[in-house]
Amino acid sequence: LVRDPETLLDGMNPQQREAVVHAGSPLLIVAGAGSGKTRVLTHRIAYLLGARGVQPGEILAITFTNKAAGEMRERVEALVGPRAKAMWVSTFHSACVRILRRESKRLGFTSSFSIYDAADSQRLMALVCRDLDLDPKQFPPKSFTAKVSNLKNELIDEETYAGQADNAMERKLAEAYALYQRRLREANALDFDDIIMTTVNLLQAFPDAAEHYRRRFRHILVDEYQDTNHAQYMLVRELTGGASGQAPKKTVDGEFVNPAEAALAEIPPAELCVVGDADQSIYAFRGATIRNILDFEEDYPNATTILLEQNYRSTQTILSAANAVIERNSNRRKKNLWTAGAEGTRITSYVADDEHGEAQFIADEIDRLTDAGDAKPGDVAVFYRTNAQSRVFEEVFIRVGLPYKVVGGVRFYERREVRDVLAYLRVLANPEDSVPLRRIINVPKRGIGERAEAMIEALASRERISFPQALLRVDEAYGMAARSANAVKKFNDLMAKLRGVVESGAGPAAVLEAVLEETGYLAELQASTDPQDETRVENLQELAAVALEFEQEEPVEGPDGEPVQTGLPGFLERVALVADSDQIPDEDGEGRGVITLMTLHTAKGLEFPVVFLTGMEDGVFPHMRAMNNTKELEEERRLAYVGLTRARERLYLSRAVLRSAWGQPSYNPASRFLEEIPPTLVDEKRTAAAAVPSLKSGGVGGSGGGFGGRSAGTGTAGGRRSTPAAGWGKNAGRMKDRPTVTLAVGDRVTHDRFGLGTVMAVSGPADDAKATIDFGAEGTKQLLLRYAPVEKL
Ligand code: ATP
Ligand code: MG
Repeated sequence: LVRDPETLLDGMNPQQREAVVHAGSPLLIVAGAGSGKTRVLTHRIAYLLGARGVQPGEILAITFTNKAAGEMRERVEALVGPRAKAMWVSTFHSACVRILRRESKRLGFTSSFSIYDAADSQRLMALVCRDLDLDPKQFPPKSFTAKVSNLKNELIDEETYAGQADNAMERKLAEAYALYQRRLREANALDFDDIIMTTVNLLQAFPDAAEHYRRRFRHILVDEYQDTNHAQYMLVRELTGGASGQAPKKTVDGEFVNPAEAALAEIPPAELCVVGDADQSIYAFRGATIRNILDFEEDYPNATTILLEQNYRSTQTILSAANAVIERNSNRRKKNLWTAGAEGTRITSYVADDEHGEAQFIADEIDRLTDAGDAKPGDVAVFYRTNAQSRVFEEVFIRVGLPYKVVGGVRFYERREVRDVLAYLRVLANPEDSVPLRRIINVPKRGIGERAEAMIEALASRERISFPQALLRVDEAYGMAARSANAVKKFNDLMAKLRGVVESGAGPAAVLEAVLEETGYLAELQASTDPQDETRVENLQELAAVALEFEQEEPVEGPDGEPVQTGLPGFLERVALVADSDQIPDEDGEGRGVITLMTLHTAKGLEFPVVFLTGMEDGVFPHMRAMNNTKELEEERRLAYVGLTRARERLYLSRAVLRSAWGQPSYNPASRFLEEIPPTLVDEKRTAAAAVPSLKSGGVGGSGGGFGGRSAGTGTAGGRRSTPAAGWGKNAGRMKDRPTVTLAVGDRVTHDRFGLGTVMAVSGPADDAKATIDFGAEGTKQLLLRYAPVEKL
């Protein structure tokens, strides 16, 4: 049941209302933190659906994280009901992947293309640089990866770059860029930056593809617009149409040069609504440019701009502090954030002797607040500049028994065992993908050593075939030692068998189980006496639970019937697009009631009743790197502004006089951002320095020993914390509990995916039996009965 759409405007201030109901021209909402930008966006979508007759399928809303997307979808659903499901609410990356899967054929890859994350990209670039014989000291692959990423964010492809490279370094980079792209194409893979760049290229090169999406998305909404980079900016422009300078080319006689472009020009531009705050732009290092927000009115000539100034999040004290800090930046549009709410309590600043004292103070303070009933652990967030700073807080919180969760850091999906197993799944989904293939070719160890790998590589380049193809062909005939050749053959057989499992229609969870078993990976971990390996088994259990949860999700189909990725590729896509921020505990879901520890970057868009901003020291925050560079310093200041404005009621700013970074003690002066806050807003506390010998609490787990697996088992995926398996048997073991079906020729069966079928032939030993089954319209399939989801009728 849809609520009366006018109630969507209840409680909104006049500017917010205007932003919700505005129609007919591009809309820019610029406003300070906590002024309801995200809320306006959500209500605007609900209003479009409820009051303006817009169909859910006509809406594309872009958020900065998967988690924010999920929340926005839920809120809209709560406002207008389940038909909200057909909307596209997602990050730039997820939306583009969805478009690319549909259009992949035009672009020369298959719809099951792989997605390379930062680690994969680096691995591939390292291989490329090696193939080009580049000296890693002179041309570090890491810096090449970063440079290629920047180029892609600027939409500069390898050919264009080759044309403009004009010194030795740039020419080498151009070569590496070109080979890197070639390898990606051979592997049927795209890296993170390609996802956006390729979508822009698609829309520019294929007017009929552009036409499809322009007809479809009549409303485009973008949150956190200040953090878009050039590629994302162009993407929005291409999808919207109607930006300045976009008229189709005409000949001197006024004829359209390209009829498809003309058809495109007929489509009225989509309604675009972007919201952002230039003061919160904190991703310049990823190519984000405030220009996108500052020039909006120029790019979209008939744009309307709405300013929101009333803040609904923080006390006046917190706002005054934030205003005072951000005012120091030059070249900004002046804003006057105010609240109708209370003055609030003063900010507490605390000076500790060292980082342990700082953590101890925070733990004590949280204890005090919870004892007094002023806050629950779940109300509290602790922010820091860099991930490494979390360790000391963890040690102290563990010791005093405070529940917490670290968001980010060594991510679940970056763990070795998780990456290993995912690499198998990736090769199964995309056999041409050589980076994961090379990762697992000898994992667990199976006698395919470096020499064998080099031989395969040599064969590939000699025969001009891909590494995976060479792997299938190589044997003794190519001069490989008999033992290696035998190992390769066994590996190929193993992969063929696993591929058989996939082809049998098994879902991601069952495929994962087959990988763990058939490869011996799980057995090896279970046989180990290393306690780390126990943690690894737990993490793999968690991964299996995630896969199972994914399978059980209801696939949401687009309104024009476009399929949503399911099965193995769908699962891998989900996993590839997971980000740190997706691990933030839900207010009402699992993980409730714990203190959240995260970096300032991850905190964007969030709010907490109690916030501790830690490490407020020059050299820590602002970061050492930024101290001598005005531009970078201003970015750090914006980061401070983001941090300060996350707090609703209570704000703490802490620092340590002595901090050991990389084992080196250093004395840092107070952060300049601290000094920029008017002293009248702050109560300063300090430990009695003499009474507390330095590093006194350093003994408590100070070495970090014992915390090696610190967030073991706390991994999350896809923004949803899955219930950890009660035991290995519950999830992955599920197939084992079910006896393998025994079938005879002529039996009738039903298969989860292929439906009804008739057994035509059976072969192989009971344990490994295969059946040939005729599924009518679905075709005849060879199934591995141990893993295939079939039942005898
Ligand atoms: P940020 O810049 O940090 O992303 P924002 O501008 O997106 O902030 P929101 O997160 O949308 O701000 O809103 C901040 C808080 O104020 C939220 O708790 C929101 O529910 C609340 N809020 C916004 N507008 C109103 C309103 N008109 N009445 C009551 N509460 C409001
Ligand atoms: Mg917001």
